[in-house]
Amino acid sequence: MFRSNLESRKRCYRSQPVGRAPKASSNRVRKSMRSNRSSGTTPEVLLSKLLRKKLISPRLPGRPDFTYPGARLVVFVHGCWWHRCPTCNIPLPETHRSYWRRKLERNVERDRFNKEELESLGWTSLEVWEHEVRHTPKLAVSKIRRVILSCNLAPR
Ligand SMILES: [Zn+2]
Repeated sequence: MFRSNLESRKRCYRSQPVGRAPKASSNRVRKSMRSNRSSGTTPEVLLSKLLRKKLISPRLPGRPDFTYPGARLVVFVHGCWWHRCPTCNIPLPETHRSYWRRKLERNVERDRFNKEELESLGWTSLEVWEHEVRHTPKLAVSKIRRVILSCNLAPR
């Protein structure tokens, strides 16, 4: 992917904001929306405990949740609702459907930009989904450890 191409896609993305979020129309919607970083025990915090690693917000594209500089690896913990997890495939709310579709599609698009930008800076980025952290935490941790190892072994 050429960098100029990424820049022009980002410009296009920025020129089409979606505006403020409408109020959650039901408890179910509110619940899925809450599974983001502003809630109590977020998947990021859970994973931080499991990895015994501090959550940091480095000045890198997308502000990854964890950074392993030696392996040039960053880890993002994605909320299944906000980042449109293909496994959970949580349905859009009944109301304000088009707003939410656009909003969440933009999140996914932004994730892609960040990944491309990080790659162009020489970082590997790994996504860990909220459901992995919540339902199979040990697997999530071993997945990360495995990628750290393979990044460390990869020639540069
Ligand atoms: Zn999921």
